[in-house]
Amino acid sequence: ESVDNAPAIVIGSGYGAAVAALRLGQAGIRTLVIEMGRLWNTPGSDGKVFCPTDAPDRRSMWFRTRTEAPLATFLWLDVVNRDISPYPGVLDRVRFANMSVYVGRGVGGGSLVNGSMAVTPLQSYFAEQFPTVDTAEMYGTYFPRARSMLGVNTIDPAWFESTEWYRFTRISRKHAENAGLRTTFVPSVYDFAYMQREAAGTATRSALGAEVIYGNNHGKRSLDKTYLASALGTGNVTIHTMERARGIRRESDGTYVVTVDRIDDTGTVVETKEYGCTYLFLGAGSVGTTELLVRARAKGTLPALDASVGSGWGTNGNVMLGRANHLWDTVGANQSTMPVMGIDDWANTANPVFAEIAPLPTGLEHWVSLYLAITKNRERASFTYDAASDSAKLGWSAAQSAVSVSMAKKLFDRINAANSTIYRYDLFGSPSKVFADDFTYHPLGGCVLGKATDGYGRVKGYAKLYVTDGSLVPGSIGVNPFVTITALAERTMARVLAEDTAA
Ligand code: FAD
Repeated sequence: ESVDNAPAIVIGSGYGAAVAALRLGQAGIRTLVIEMGRLWNTPGSDGKVFCPTDAPDRRSMWFRTRTEAPLATFLWLDVVNRDISPYPGVLDRVRFANMSVYVGRGVGGGSLVNGSMAVTPLQSYFAEQFPTVDTAEMYGTYFPRARSMLGVNTIDPAWFESTEWYRFTRISRKHAENAGLRTTFVPSVYDFAYMQREAAGTATRSALGAEVIYGNNHGKRSLDKTYLASALGTGNVTIHTMERARGIRRESDGTYVVTVDRIDDTGTVVETKEYGCTYLFLGAGSVGTTELLVRARAKGTLPALDASVGSGWGTNGNVMLGRANHLWDTVGANQSTMPVMGIDDWANTANPVFAEIAPLPTGLEHWVSLYLAITKNRERASFTYDAASDSAKLGWSAAQSAVSVSMAKKLFDRINAANSTIYRYDLFGSPSKVFADDFTYHPLGGCVLGKATDGYGRVKGYAKLYVTDGSLVPGSIGVNPFVTITALAERTMARVLAEDTAA
């Protein structure tokens, strides 16, 4: 068996991983990034890197024979999903007993498939969730650093008020205001100058071409165009794709050894290799990192991991729902896929909810207002290692999802009452399912900051082993999470490079 050595290894290439790779590379530390998905830079036979949402092909999903979009039906017809051939596609739906977790696969992780909403959490809620973190430093240094590195921008309000592409958002705002609720613009990493050119007909449509969950061919500042491009630019960072980390052990001299399965386009393991390193950064996302750690603890390859590894996991209270509008309240056939506004009722201590106004771009008028509600659900679950499947099982129950539903329902019952409207019953598969409470876009926790790690993401029990991704966040952050994950990773890397790698 051969062991290739690198001073530093980063597992994954999402937000936390990308920050680690850039800052290590800038510090002159040779770094290997290991990503299980592919590099999305080569056009298919249609000339596009990513496939269209309305006609998904094998590029859409991670080794599936049929797509599994969150909206299963429309008018009860199974029109949304399509048969595809298995391939390392860009979106994965990881199925646990009562909860599916959507994640991005490829160089850039979730940034390839997400809605680009770049939201900084309320400072008071951040402080509640991270009591040991210096919030003044976070909001003074690391959140601004993250936003600037990610290329966050905001929609021109005048254009927002006039364009047909955000009519659906303006209708939802009106209905929220009729219920006495506050709305707020949310920043984005989608380039709004590009979007305006799409609308003007001078640029190829992406956000205005229904592209989002299976990747954007234009306009989006995904991590491969920001942090990861800069990381490669240091000359010290190498990315290996189609390599899935499976095992982590530590040798007696302190070297970490990562066991990796290299897969081909059919998913077959074509080679198993081992890489050794001095510094190991885990950025495989909440599910990926937590699974690696609970497996290593259970198999005894990292036996000293803290008992809290695997726990503190939550869905950020995610619930999706649709409302049916009156015939005169049209939402428009043309809808941008990038949300730009949320209904902010987080200050309502009896029922805190932040609901993003989501698009449903079908190219025809459907009178649906769609939302992804982020509720302050305090339920948490744990991952445990299952030897039979060599994977982590999640102990989330349907009753825990019901908590999110009841909070979302309280808010949207108010909106429906104020507007004499009702819910849509045809969107989520089984007849009359109004609230999609069986999936999350925002998996958070499993290796919580200050519990499974010290206050900076250093894994308890193991020097020079770090977590930099969404598993640090204790199950909820009240808004879309990638800005928080990025800012926490910046904070970790500043500390680690100052204190741990100095020698
Ligand atoms: P990830 O971005 O998940 O990256 C982890 C990477 O590690 C992936 O590339 C994965 O393939 C790789 N990996 C996993 N396991 C292994 C392994 N064993 N070996 C090698 N590689 C591995 N958030 C927002 O803030 N705003 C939004 O608008 C928004 N919209 C979303 C829409 C969708 C459809 C989805 C799915 C998510 C959305 N999110 C949004 C959530 C956001 O994308 C995630 O919170 C974020 O990507 C998590 O970052 P991370 O660094 O924890 O890991």
